[in-house]
Amino acid sequence: DAKANGRGRWSFFDPVMEEDVRTRDNIARELRHAIDTNALSVAYQPQVDGITGRYVAVETLVRWAHPERGPINPASFVPIAEETGLINDLGLWVLRRACQDAHRWPDVAISVNISPTQFRHPRFVDHVIATLAAYDLPPSRLEIEVTESVFAGKDSVILTAMRQLKELGVRIALDDFGSGYSSLSYLRRFPFDILKIDRDFVSNVGECEQARAILRTIVDLGSALGMTVVAEGIETAEQERFLMAIGCDRLQGYYIARPGSGEEIEPIILGRGLDVPTSLGSRLAS
Ligand code: C2E
Ligand code: MG
Ligand code: MG
Ligand code: MG
Repeated sequence: DAKANGRGRWSFFDPVMEEDVRTRDNIARELRHAIDTNALSVAYQPQVDGITGRYVAVETLVRWAHPERGPINPASFVPIAEETGLINDLGLWVLRRACQDAHRWPDVAISVNISPTQFRHPRFVDHVIATLAAYDLPPSRLEIEVTESVFAGKDSVILTAMRQLKELGVRIALDDFGSGYSSLSYLRRFPFDILKIDRDFVSNVGECEQARAILRTIVDLGSALGMTVVAEGIETAEQERFLMAIGCDRLQGYYIARPGSGEEIEPIILGRGLDVPTSLGSRLAS
């Protein structure tokens, strides 16, 4: 659909780089409209189990194909949504879509990225409960991803929300682990279930013994704390092999499978499509 807009419009537009404040205002207004008219969509990126190679989870990633500007990167419009308060409605829209689509893949967990503003919203947990009920999805199927930026504020607000979600059976992941500050103290203070290693560490596996040492240590640390460790950004067979060898619980990245629409990833996940990712062959062979 984005391609149908024409070759000239295929490149990503980056409003964050724009000086023009009006452009940001326009983006915010158009985003509001896109949320209200169901013009957003989501892509799902599969994750495989590090031992069996089975598809065990999918991460939900919001997509916006702007009618004139073409596809806009979430890294560009999610921050605008946060600044303007639109993130609560956007996030709820994504959560609903994910819970609805999750029924297609009954054995697979579905993860949803939640921004700090959304996570700290006083009604966030209520929204999650209501959405799970509305789509009749067991809470154990849902994972919520937050980044370290969620910690900029009062601990008690996050802790309360986390405990309520865990009580329900929802699992909580710390996303982009290692990209920020003070990560280790957060691991001690907050009851995360899942640790997602930032892809910067993964991308340097080939060249750099330090990166390998850090990856080993993070996997061991997460395991010792009883967490499920996920590596993201796996782009090569070498990276996949290394992370499997050090006992990483789950693998995610372009080499495993690219993000795609529900229709695109369904045959991959259910294991009966022609579009088998290249890595599946190497996993079965080894
Ligand atoms: P994230 O949560 O860390 O998601 C992973 C990002 O890495 C996605 O980018 C994904 O397409 C990309 N990726 C996956 N595998 C590879 C790989 O092998 N190599 C490389 N270079 N990249 C890979 P995307 O979809 O552009 O999203 C960017 C960020 O935007 C996300 O990072 C997340 O922070 C945010 N985001 C996306 N969807 C949502 C959403 O629904 N709500 C919120 N609050 N934030 C979202
Ligand atoms: Mg994420
Ligand atoms: Mg991430
Ligand atoms: Mg383990």
